[in-house]
Amino acid sequence: MPARTGEEFLARLRENPAEVWIDGRRVDDPTTHPAFRRGARSMAALLDMQHEPALRDEMTYDSPSSGDRVGMSFLTPRNAEDVVRRRLMMTRWARYSGGMMGRSPDYLNAGLMGVAAASSYFGANRPEFKANVERYYEHVRENDLCMTHTLVNMRRTRSAESVMGADDVGLRVMRETDEGIVVKGARVLATLGPISDEIMVFPSTVLSTMPDAESYAFAFSIPSATAGLKFVCRESFDLGRPSYDHPLGSRFEEMDAIVLFDEVLVPWERVFLLGDIELCNNAYAATNALVHMMHQVVIKNVAKSEFVLGIAARMVEALGSGHLPNVQGMVAELIIDLELMKACLRAAEADAAVDEWGVMCPDRPPLDVARNLFPKMYPRMVEVLQLLGSSNLMATPSGADFESEIGQELEHYLSTDTMSGLDRARLFHLAWDVACSAFGGRQVLYERFFFGDQTRMASALYNWYDMEPLKTRVDDFLAREPMM
Ligand SMILES: Cc1cc2nc3c(=O)[nH]c(=O)nc-3n(C[C@H](O)[C@H](O)[C@H](O)COP(=O)(O)OP(=O)(O)OC[C@H]3O[C@@H](n4cnc5c(N)ncnc54)[C@H](O)[C@@H]3O)c2cc1C
Repeated sequence: MPARTGEEFLARLRENPAEVWIDGRRVDDPTTHPAFRRGARSMAALLDMQHEPALRDEMTYDSPSSGDRVGMSFLTPRNAEDVVRRRLMMTRWARYSGGMMGRSPDYLNAGLMGVAAASSYFGANRPEFKANVERYYEHVRENDLCMTHTLVNMRRTRSAESVMGADDVGLRVMRETDEGIVVKGARVLATLGPISDEIMVFPSTVLSTMPDAESYAFAFSIPSATAGLKFVCRESFDLGRPSYDHPLGSRFEEMDAIVLFDEVLVPWERVFLLGDIELCNNAYAATNALVHMMHQVVIKNVAKSEFVLGIAARMVEALGSGHLPNVQGMVAELIIDLELMKACLRAAEADAAVDEWGVMCPDRPPLDVARNLFPKMYPRMVEVLQLLGSSNLMATPSGADFESEIGQELEHYLSTDTMSGLDRARLFHLAWDVACSAFGGRQVLYERFFFGDQTRMASALYNWYDMEPLKTRVDDFLAREPMM
């Protein structure tokens, strides 16, 4: 089947919804429920781009198995040109939301592509798992399914002795049957869960090596609408307001949910790892799936930085504050952030190399630098918007106010030297949705944590980065003849 249209995506959700709970109620149809419907429509719009004649070659490629046109983010890059093709497609999706939909499907498509390319890793001890991974990748690619994923166990404590989730809360295997494995427990979080087709349940990289952890060591994927699986959502940040008033929340609510598994049966053909702690702990790094996901993330970071800088520049213009040195300094910070992200992306692509799986893999260090920097940059970007905007972020009458009998008065008092009152309020509604609203607050939290907390991401870089040549250079320096 070729890449899906938006309507095909919505129809599948309508006909086959997962068990989703929000505010004490079960959701019948996420495509019409006010908490999800506009986010789902934005996802549909992304998929529709795959069918725009002018974008066909950018968004899709010929499937190696069916010959159908399938989504470009599934492409296994074999050369530098393929890496660029992937980036162009991902950039177009990221720009659609100004980088505010971190979970456009390319994020996990990139990960799954990396996993499948390294399928023999999964078959190291159980050859059937290699075939499972390959079949699954093809299934998702050929049906253009949208995935969510969940890596982190719900835990009772963060004490030093606590094993990652190894208690009666974390997700664990209860038993094996002829049909598959039966799992029970809770995971946090699954962004996009309520409007996803499939959920990838992959290991956290910090499983203990104690024997008890074996029942927590697995990787599998199942349909989101599997019996016993529940998504329990936070409140929606689509407040049902018109897009004029709430330009981001009204469009890009991708939703986060905790996931409860109540004796869920995972068929054998959907199991990719089982009981092998070492393979679970090394799965991301060894397969380079993480690096392909980082590539998508940094593309999103560039789009998001561009969007924030564009908003800031327009705000400064509207307020007539561009001559003030402190304002220039803050906007310059945003320029530096953007250019740093672009430089990391370019460096990663320029130094891409074919890895042991035969995949042209972007260079990891610049991407790792970018993913460690952005969680620190983004909260400051938001702060800069607050500082540039100050009370103007609150001088935001609604679209209905402008249409009311006080509309003309508002237009008179809110217009600036460069902008009508209506446009000024529209712009500052947007800045507010990035910098102050619940939607904006969630974006900050997302950037701080979605790829792991900053301490552990920094540790991962420390542990992975090859510093031996540098230490040797220091040794050589120390061993030099003294200078007389
Ligand atoms: C908006 C949002 C969306 C997300 N979406 C997804 C998703 O789709 N899929 C998914 O799998 N996950 C998702 N996550 C979860 C994300 O993976 C975790 O937030 C992240 O891994 C950190 O884990 P935690 O939240 O359990 O933090 P905790 O472990 O509860 O840590 C809380 C704080 O304590 C510190 N801390 C705790 N233990 C340690 C330690 N051992 N060493 C150092 N510091 C420690 C952390 O630095 C952190 O600041 C999402 C998170 C957010 C906020």
